Amino acid sequence: MTRIHPLLALLALAFTSRSLAAQVATPAAIGPITAIKAGRLIDPETGTVSTNQIILVQNGRFTGVGANIAIPKDAQVIDLSALTVLPGLVDAHNHLALTYKEVPERNSYYITTILDDTPLRAIQAVSNGIQMLSAGFTIVRDMGNNGKYADIALRKGIEQGWVPGPTIIPSGLIIAGMGGQFSPNPEMAFDRKIVYPEYLEADTPDEIIKAVRQNALVGARVIKICVDCKLWGYSTDEIKLVISEAAKAGLKVEGHVQSVAGAHRAVDAGIWSIAHDNGMNDTIHKIMAQKHIFRAGTETPISLVGHTTEARFKQTVVLLRNAWENKVPLTFSTDADYYVPGKTRGEVAIEFVETWKAAGIPTGDILRAMTTTGYDVSETTKTRGPIKVGLFADLIAVPGNPLQSIDALRDVKFVLKNGLVFKRDGVMTPAAFFNGGPVNGVNAR
Ligand SMILES: [Zn+2]
Repeated sequence: MTRIHPLLALLALAFTSRSLAAQVATPAAIGPITAIKAGRLIDPETGTVSTNQIILVQNGRFTGVGANIAIPKDAQVIDLSALTVLPGLVDAHNHLALTYKEVPERNSYYITTILDDTPLRAIQAVSNGIQMLSAGFTIVRDMGNNGKYADIALRKGIEQGWVPGPTIIPSGLIIAGMGGQFSPNPEMAFDRKIVYPEYLEADTPDEIIKAVRQNALVGARVIKICVDCKLWGYSTDEIKLVISEAAKAGLKVEGHVQSVAGAHRAVDAGIWSIAHDNGMNDTIHKIMAQKHIFRAGTETPISLVGHTTEARFKQTVVLLRNAWENKVPLTFSTDADYYVPGKTRGEVAIEFVETWKAAGIPTGDILRAMTTTGYDVSETTKTRGPIKVGLFADLIAVPGNPLQSIDALRDVKFVLKNGLVFKRDGVMTPAAFFNGGPVNGVNAR
């Protein structure tokens, strides 16, 4: 007796039907099934734990979640009954195609951008992405400083199935007034145009519109601007212009803000998210909470020696606490764009929980910042992030319980990305992610 393969059955159906599109609308009928036994399953949104759950995955998506789900007899079973399963983590502000370091550039990324060309940085971004995924980060918002669009190339390479990595939300080039965050001499600024491509200089309304369109055209999923990198910065009206132009392409706007005046202009204009805490205070936090403006505070921990100071760290802790008390939408964000000897990029990123602990933020709220609010700011909530039927199957597992101790997240033993096992028993097993051509096609956000 022969069994008809489900794929053949589907094809036969398709060819005898008038409408191929109607038949392939249910591709979940084909493909192997994976069944994950979760000892504990955390829902970060509610801060609750369910025990002994079954999670079914097929064709890269969750197809079943619950306690009383029958495991199909041909399913591949992954036993995580000794672990705590939870959705993947989000770093809402990183720069995977930038790694500055002590030698030779003395941690000056201005020099890094001269030493490292875009192709080299794109390769580095692949490596950094793998390091982030291994640490449990399944989504990374990559906020510029990536040479000439290495962030967008990284997203495409991962999306097409060439290399493993988190889902990248790339900003493309940072749009800024003249100079960006650099202070070059006249020859470098005007003869050699050294500011580009780290920054896309846009000083007039026409230039601002064109810059937004340029990023959108080549695949940016969010727009990043320098609100006040220079004293001239952007006015409230200019920020509104960025926001309205970005909206035409379906994109939100993040502002780099480093002054209280800049923060006022950004929140007045109704920006989507603010990066860094330099311009934050109680008043700004109250406005951000009221307008639901995301905070990507990039709170550097004192344990990353040389990347903050005692005084700056204390200020960061006070401001993070104040933001939490004001109920600002908090995202976990690192700006971890440097090399720390002995640590992977992912281990550097997870180190930032130290600041959140120092600020006395409850573990449930830290975890929410690292997951639920991260999906919101990334605009993926309806496609990936939560462990829910129909969404792309990303999840991680750790031995401890992150709701009791957030440090449990330092020991990610298992990572599933798009339904494929990337890490198992604490060891990366990425073979399924390397393909000779595009296997995933166009992905959803
Ligand atoms: Zn940054």
